[in-house]
Amino acid sequence: MRHLAIIGSGPAGYYTAEAALKRWGDDVMVDVFDRLPVPYGLIRSGVAPDHQSIKAVAKRYEAVALSSNVRFIGNVSVGQDISVAELQGLYDAVILATGAPHDRPLDLPGDHLGNVFGSAAFVGWYNGHPQFAALDPDLSGPTAVVIGMGNVALDVARILAKTRAEFAGSDIVGHALDRLDGSRLNHVVILGRRGPHQIAMTPKELGELGHLERACPRVDPADLPDEAEDVLLEPGLRKSVTLLRSFAAIPESYRADKPVEIDFDFFASPRALLGVDGKVTGIEVERTTVEKGRAIGTGETYVVPASLVVCCIGYQTSPIPDVPFDERQGRFANDEGRILSGLYCVGWARRGPSGTIGTNRPDGYSVVEKIAEDQPHQSGKPGPAGFDRLAEHRALKVVRFRDWKKIEEAEQRAAREGAPREKFVDVETMIHAAGKG
Ligand SMILES: Cc1cc2nc3c(=O)[nH]c(=O)nc-3n(C[C@H](O)[C@H](O)[C@H](O)COP(=O)(O)OP(=O)(O)OC[C@H]3O[C@@H](n4cnc5c(N)ncnc54)[C@H](O)[C@@H]3O)c2cc1C
Repeated sequence: MRHLAIIGSGPAGYYTAEAALKRWGDDVMVDVFDRLPVPYGLIRSGVAPDHQSIKAVAKRYEAVALSSNVRFIGNVSVGQDISVAELQGLYDAVILATGAPHDRPLDLPGDHLGNVFGSAAFVGWYNGHPQFAALDPDLSGPTAVVIGMGNVALDVARILAKTRAEFAGSDIVGHALDRLDGSRLNHVVILGRRGPHQIAMTPKELGELGHLERACPRVDPADLPDEAEDVLLEPGLRKSVTLLRSFAAIPESYRADKPVEIDFDFFASPRALLGVDGKVTGIEVERTTVEKGRAIGTGETYVVPASLVVCCIGYQTSPIPDVPFDERQGRFANDEGRILSGLYCVGWARRGPSGTIGTNRPDGYSVVEKIAEDQPHQSGKPGPAGFDRLAEHRALKVVRFRDWKKIEEAEQRAAREGAPREKFVDVETMIHAAGKG
């Protein structure tokens, strides 16, 4: 029997488990670890709560998790409860699928000010990640500035702009729904260093901004390049730019009924965050021009008022003791998924934060092929039985998949009307619901 330990139960982790089952069938046992008592990584805590159809991919992971050759080992933090070296002693191969859970720092004067958040924290707050549930953002001011021109920035802007009714059918956590319901924001600025041709926003997500109940997007026509230049763009980006053009053409009469404006501020590079009494009040930005795709400062600066700032500028992997780390790239040092023989990485922990959920699938399949090449024969290591002995010895409160199903059922029972679930936002409640308290 071949024994694999996959660390992280997000898309990359479960695609790797799926690939291992396809490759070795009943000749493999896979333990999928997660530091949380609940599985699925960013499917649960990143993907927007009003995008339930995307979250449905978890059903595919559940099918893998229910295989008798796969175990979920939740509530075990690798690097803390058990080391990578210990896992390597127990399993034939260890695959890190730990994602990139940390915000890339903005690194500007004033970034420590109150009501300035990274998107991992802010998204984690409205999605009920235990680490960020207590974030307590203040939405009583008029203007939110969202820094970044990707889909995460769109998610944050949309969530900030929606009415309570527009969250029907979503699994946004109650504390966030109530806070958003009392929000006084009437202006959301999406700020980016470069122009419309350099956005990383996909058409579906961008298009949603045009159909909000109380909010309307605004693009300054002067920021749009000559339309003839759009033909050079790849089709998806061309579609997104066409949407920006349609936003620029929205008549003022339509805006009259929309008290919340979502403003695209292109060619604006943040220079410093400004504040009063420790709390953010604005962002000083420098006007840029774009040359060969790069933003070049013009020296002209201005201040964008801001009562809330959310930085959506990317993520980094957390280092784990004794695992080679590429500081510059913010991910594990690896050669196409191989860190060392017997130690691998997949997904965001391997590539950094890019691509869609599906991009993680080929990662999983290719790493399984690498393992097969590196280790044509199993080593006779103890695998799950060895881990179980160690967990008992350390009195770890391991949450298995059947325990997660109890948590899931309790979350479903607690759901407000029309919602799929009310997520538990602290580990103790999860453990209690799992019957492990
Ligand atoms: C805000 C946001 C919205 C997104 N929306 C979409 C979308 O709409 N569509 C789309 O296609 N993609 C979307 N993505 C991208 C998608 O979520 C990622 O491609 C995918 O989740 C990456 O998978 P992963 O398994 O590498 O990492 P993750 O999903 O982050 O999973 C990593 C797992 O590892 C666990 N872990 C971390 N450290 C440890 C440790 N030391 N020990 C044990 N466990 C650990 C974590 O708890 C987590 O469960 C979004 C991403 C973000 C941030």
